[in-house]
Amino acid sequence: MEAVILLGAPGSGKGTVAEDLKASVRFEHVSTGDKLRDAVKAGSAVGLEAKAYMERGELVPDEVIIKIMDEVLRTGSPDARYMFDGFPRTVHQAEMLDRSLAGYGSKVSHVFLLDVPREVLVRRICGRRICRQCGAVYNIHTKQPKVAGVCDQCGSTDIYQRPDDNEETLNNRLDVFEQQTASLIAYYDQTGVLVRVPAEDRLETEEKILEYFKQS
Ligand code: ADP
Ligand code: ZN
Repeated sequence: MEAVILLGAPGSGKGTVAEDLKASVRFEHVSTGDKLRDAVKAGSAVGLEAKAYMERGELVPDEVIIKIMDEVLRTGSPDARYMFDGFPRTVHQAEMLDRSLAGYGSKVSHVFLLDVPREVLVRRICGRRICRQCGAVYNIHTKQPKVAGVCDQCGSTDIYQRPDDNEETLNNRLDVFEQQTASLIAYYDQTGVLVRVPAEDRLETEEKILEYFKQS
């Protein structure tokens, strides 16, 4: 089992970068945000617990996240290579991930910190639109579907704005991110696995990350 982490503020492009990299590298992309949204949609126990936190832009409690991630590792293939996106978000989650991976004889090999100025983040997120059918991500400023209102990938016309992608919730999410990640960054810096990636330009970001995959 191998594990790398994409760390970055809301809107830093973690999800897009992970999906794009799949064209060149084999790995399982695990997004806790996607897993939580699926749970909310399904109305499961986890979803019911997570919903209110997500709507306020607060972090979902560690126990809930840990339950989800244990399930991922337990049911995955023993030689899987994971790319975690949106996880860990707290030092407590990072410690528990290290313990779980150790149980499989593995550890985190790289943590890519996607670095984007805050004003760019706000513009990106408030313009973000998502296909409800297939999860494809668009942006009213930078990446419109080829036919207005129709998803390029699946043809659905159900393209929506995430309820937490409004300016107020967003500012709270960015504050939470800054507070929580300062210690997380320190945690991974200590073990020497942290790689800072300037991430304003998507292609440059992906190239930089690919270099590390080629080395390992
Ligand atoms: P973003 O990074 O754009 O905020 P995500 O899809 O990663 O979006 O997360 C959406 C919401 O899901 C977060 O605001 C938070 O409430 C919850 N969430 C996702 N991952 C975690 C996590 N590892 N720990 C706690 N809460 C999480
Ligand atoms: Zn679609």
